[in-house]
Amino acid sequence: MINNLPRRHFIKYSSASLLAGATGLSIPNIALGAVRKVVVIGGGAGGTIAAKYIKKSDPSIEVTLIESNKTYDTCFMSNEVIGGGRKIESIVHGYDGLKKRSINIVHSTASAIDIDKKTVLTSSGDRFKYDRLIVSPGISLKMDHIDGYDSEATKVMPHAWKAGTQTSLLRKQLLAMNDGGLVILTPPANPFRCPPGPYERVCQIAHYLKHYKPKSKILVIDSKDKFSKQALFMQGWEARYKGMIDWIPGTETGGGVTSVDSTKMIVSTDFDDFNADVANIIPPQQAGDIARLAGLSDRSGWCPVHLGTFESTIHKGIYVIGDASIANGMPKSAYAANSQAKVCAAAVVASINETVMPEPSYVNTCYSLVAPDYGISIAAVYRLSEDQSEIKSVSGGVTANDASPDTLQREVQYAYSWYDNIVADMFA
Ligand SMILES: Cc1cc2nc3c(=O)[nH]c(=O)nc-3n(C[C@H](O)[C@H](O)[C@H](O)COP(=O)(O)OP(=O)(O)OC[C@H]3O[C@@H](n4cnc5c(N)ncnc54)[C@H](O)[C@@H]3O)c2cc1C
Repeated sequence: MINNLPRRHFIKYSSASLLAGATGLSIPNIALGAVRKVVVIGGGAGGTIAAKYIKKSDPSIEVTLIESNKTYDTCFMSNEVIGGGRKIESIVHGYDGLKKRSINIVHSTASAIDIDKKTVLTSSGDRFKYDRLIVSPGISLKMDHIDGYDSEATKVMPHAWKAGTQTSLLRKQLLAMNDGGLVILTPPANPFRCPPGPYERVCQIAHYLKHYKPKSKILVIDSKDKFSKQALFMQGWEARYKGMIDWIPGTETGGGVTSVDSTKMIVSTDFDDFNADVANIIPPQQAGDIARLAGLSDRSGWCPVHLGTFESTIHKGIYVIGDASIANGMPKSAYAANSQAKVCAAAVVASINETVMPEPSYVNTCYSLVAPDYGISIAAVYRLSEDQSEIKSVSGGVTANDASPDTLQREVQYAYSWYDNIVADMFA
């Protein structure tokens, strides 16, 4: 049997076309010398890295990255923009670095995936054929979940959970608010993008208010009873923003915000109505539209994958990484997406070249900035569990509760260095 021949014999003694003619067997693309094509949808934290690392490991693979926008605004560090600690321009990045790596960058929206024809259709009418497809579209917001919170309402009550104009809008609203105003922030139920993100945002807003509008208050109407790095955040709130932040857990709010009236600036739970001066409504989330449209998600709205490769458990040959995937055991973060993209890139190259995939390992660190001289973090290294049902943390840690001021200050420097490194990895 040809399929059982060791690869070196196969190459030495066979002419692929002859074999094809003689046996009628289908010959792998690699043997025929055909161009192998990988298409990546989404040029964010996951997609850029998958595209780059596939090209790096096998330059003969043709890699096309389809991304809706000409530039990418990182959500990471966007809370610092909202707090006034950095300018929005510093979180905007372009794709020239990836173009120089001979990755085809297509600025268009992937509107459909033809699974049978292995083709991606874009809104500009172009079609891209693939041998393997990687989908990293991030999240979409569940806009039907909070009564009255529709796309018009986001212009008055920003979510700022996708960075860019929403980030700037929330910043502008804080600047325009009177001293003594009430800022309401509503973190969603799990799972959602960046578990510590809403609470870092509370810190950044509090930092701004403390210095410029000290009579103001922040009300956090949570859907949950506990949250990531809770003890550390609460310690930071007490140390730096005492009396300014009121956090109401899910059991006391009846599960969080249920409706808003953006014309009257009212935020309601099952129990109460609150009048906001600035309202930051963060709705529940699900996998990005294209992943759900293509049938890659399950009833949860997220996409199940084989955790060792990120290949979809629903459609073979399609891989889902980043926030959209169910990476059981890992949070939805940029660093997790980066790590998953590298595992996925190795899996795709191995699958295309019919080689053995190395054993995967995964990593994540999330820094949060409580104040300009006060950072906290959580870090973990993961392995695939033996039964492959979980990406299991095998080592890690969080900032100590009794960390010294020096350590907290250093965490901020580590956070900035992490940011510079991850965007260089994505775009350079
Ligand atoms: C306020 C905030 C703070 C955060 N801070 C951190 C942090 O400190 N550290 C950290 O690790 N993570 C952080 N995150 C989380 C991080 O931003 C996400 O987890 C990460 O971006 C997920 O990567 P992704 O590739 O899945 O999606 P994204 O990075 O969102 O990329 C998706 C890309 O796909 C594109 N796209 C979507 N659909 C299509 C389509 N149909 N066709 C073409 N293009 C498409 C989008 O335009 C986008 O560019 C933060 C998030 C928020 C909201």
